[in-house]
Amino acid sequence: MDNMPDLSPETDSFIAEFDAAIEAHMDWSRRILRCAVLHSSPGEDVLAPMAHTLCRFGRWFHLNRAHFEAIDVDSVQHIDAVHKAMHDTIRAICADVMTGRPGQSADLEVFERSQSELLTQLARLKTLTLSNAVRHDPLTGLPLRYGIESDFSLCQKDARRNRTLLYVAMIDVDHFKLINDNHGHPEGDMVLRHLAGTLKKSLRGNDPLYRFGGEEFLWLMRCQSAEEAEQSARRIVATISSTPVPITNNEPLALTVTLGLALVGEQEDIASAIKRADMALYEGKKAGRNRYVIAD
Ligand code: GH3
Ligand code: MG
Ligand code: MG
Repeated sequence: MDNMPDLSPETDSFIAEFDAAIEAHMDWSRRILRCAVLHSSPGEDVLAPMAHTLCRFGRWFHLNRAHFEAIDVDSVQHIDAVHKAMHDTIRAICADVMTGRPGQSADLEVFERSQSELLTQLARLKTLTLSNAVRHDPLTGLPLRYGIESDFSLCQKDARRNRTLLYVAMIDVDHFKLINDNHGHPEGDMVLRHLAGTLKKSLRGNDPLYRFGGEEFLWLMRCQSAEEAEQSARRIVATISSTPVPITNNEPLALTVTLGLALVGEQEDIASAIKRADMALYEGKKAGRNRYVIAD
């Protein structure tokens, strides 16, 4: 399907797990019905006091909690609560039925309500996960350009309030076409993935980093002074040129990047800042690459 967004294998497996979780909870309903009609045990895992941490969904959700929290903290807490409520009432109902007592209609209501709420919340989180995934590059895991304008405005406001500086830095791989030509496109992809990891680790203070285009990355650099900006730019250039990239069946590959930086004006819009950073980058390429240039 050509018009499907490109998703990482992780996202594909998340989506499959969501569907499996929904299926598993339908299966529980069937077990409860059997328990109610036939007075048969629904199984130890349903009766266990911490059943909500033992079920397949509960374990998967717990393992990936940090990932979901990054998408939406409120959803995660809500899902936790309704999932636990569901298991607690299932347990209460089954315990009643198995000891020959009639179940409580209040329990049944809580169960029905929490199950329906769980399904609603899961569908919501699934939608959020998908829309988050299409905003990220499946190759490097970095955000794509979608959120860049609002991030830029936030950083610009912060800089104004805190009297700090904001730079737009364009980072472009030097002679990347040669890497593809000499080693093939798949190796080129691996090089980009490795480079993205090195860049992300080297930036300080969680500065936003985007995959801006093919072999270009955009960095919103927040700093205290022009000297600090120069130091950071110099450090990135040096780090990349001293971190050869492992490639298949060959010596690690030496790689360099050129940076173009523009100090963002208090009222400047992102298009103008990017244009100036791009011009600085072009100057850096002309001057011999493996360097940074700061726009006037
Ligand atoms: P320069 O130093 O002037 O930047 O030279 P360059 O070769 O890096 O620049 P050019 O723009 O000529 O080539 C960029 C190449 O990057 C061309 C394109 O095929 C390749 N490229 C873009 N995106 C990807 C990608 O996702 N994977 C791979 N393997 N190659 C890519
Ligand atoms: Mg380029
Ligand atoms: Mg390039």
